[in-house]
Amino acid sequence: MSASLPYGRQSIAADDLAAVLEVLQSAFLTNGPKIEEFEHQFAARVGAKHAIAVNSATSALHLAMRSAGIGVGDRILTSPNTFLATANCAAYVGARPDFSDIDPVSHNLDPEALQKTWTSNVRAVIAVDYAGQPCDLPAIAGIAREKGALVIDDASHAVGSAFMHEGGRWSLGGNPWADMTIFSFHPVKTMTTGEGGMLVTDNLKWATLARKLRSHGVERRVFEGLGSSDPMLSEQGPWYYEMQALGYNFRLTDLQCALGISQLRRLDDFIARRREIVGAYNTALAELEGLQIPGIRKPAVENEISWHLYTVEIDYKRIGKTRTRVMAELGDRGVGSQVHYIPIYLQPWYRRQFGYQPGKCPTAESYYRRTLSLPLFPAMTSADVERVIEAVQAVMKEV
Ligand SMILES: *Cc1c(COP(=O)(O)O)cnc(C)c1O
Repeated sequence: MSASLPYGRQSIAADDLAAVLEVLQSAFLTNGPKIEEFEHQFAARVGAKHAIAVNSATSALHLAMRSAGIGVGDRILTSPNTFLATANCAAYVGARPDFSDIDPVSHNLDPEALQKTWTSNVRAVIAVDYAGQPCDLPAIAGIAREKGALVIDDASHAVGSAFMHEGGRWSLGGNPWADMTIFSFHPVKTMTTGEGGMLVTDNLKWATLARKLRSHGVERRVFEGLGSSDPMLSEQGPWYYEMQALGYNFRLTDLQCALGISQLRRLDDFIARRREIVGAYNTALAELEGLQIPGIRKPAVENEISWHLYTVEIDYKRIGKTRTRVMAELGDRGVGSQVHYIPIYLQPWYRRQFGYQPGKCPTAESYYRRTLSLPLFPAMTSADVERVIEAVQAVMKEV
């Protein structure tokens, strides 16, 4: 049997290789023309005014916090059912990451729970589009805006996803409910730049600040009021720059942006293939005892989900096997699997730092106990898909 199928992996074609090679032989490896080209194409694709390319989604989330001026004394509310970076960004700037429970169908933030969890100093909700399914941004924004808080959408799972609301079609990154939207280009995500991420927004002020902080907080432009006796200000030659804020090196390279441009061209094919595989899984696994296929909740609609993950819920007690054993038995049949996610507030650092305890978000905890992610990536062949289906059927039946 060939090597075990991972739960996700990149898809690199000849065009991707050619795009990277071309930059490698050009004058710029970083800070060249591919960055703006990638940003423009990406912004156009999702329907946003501004896109800022950075070296990871983690950096994009960090910049979202800084651009919105979130810091010490502030709280953010997010989903516990997400990757660590979604919450860590608040801690980077001295704010308190806090958590609100998910709904049991989509496993995204539950607007009703959000309303109940709200406290006075919440500056932003960081919503997550788990597995690629759009969360209920209109409902979340309705709650947040009434309280004067921002909505930041961590769409790291969901590039290309869209949803319907009151008859209109809205894409993630191009809708009026998220103030800023973040995407990840890590290799397991839907499209890749190796490492990489994007921050998109329609707000020029935040975009400008994020762009500046991406590269050390430095500004290069014609400054007024020079020519004094101050040794820094005496002459403004072509070398002149000013550091106006404490920034970072969060830049994405030209090499990576060339790969991003090439991958963006393939995005529709990636998503179509992901939907095809999800359809085949759903059909084959829907009737299995003790297993639940992914649920969909409004405003998401099935054919607008880009499906980063295929996650089933298994009643391990009912089938008389632990999850560890199920994963091992799938592994014996060449099928890799993974668990997304341990609720973040249960992590030791979060318990120590903020005093969070088990029981805080019961739906997220019970989901964590049941969830399992099966292989899903566009390069899977129909034989691979069959292999996964047969393995799951066998493991669920053989008690
Ligand atoms: C992958 C991921 C991130 C972090 O992405 P990087 O590009 O690896 O920094 C953030 N949030 C979510 C929900 C993710 O899945």
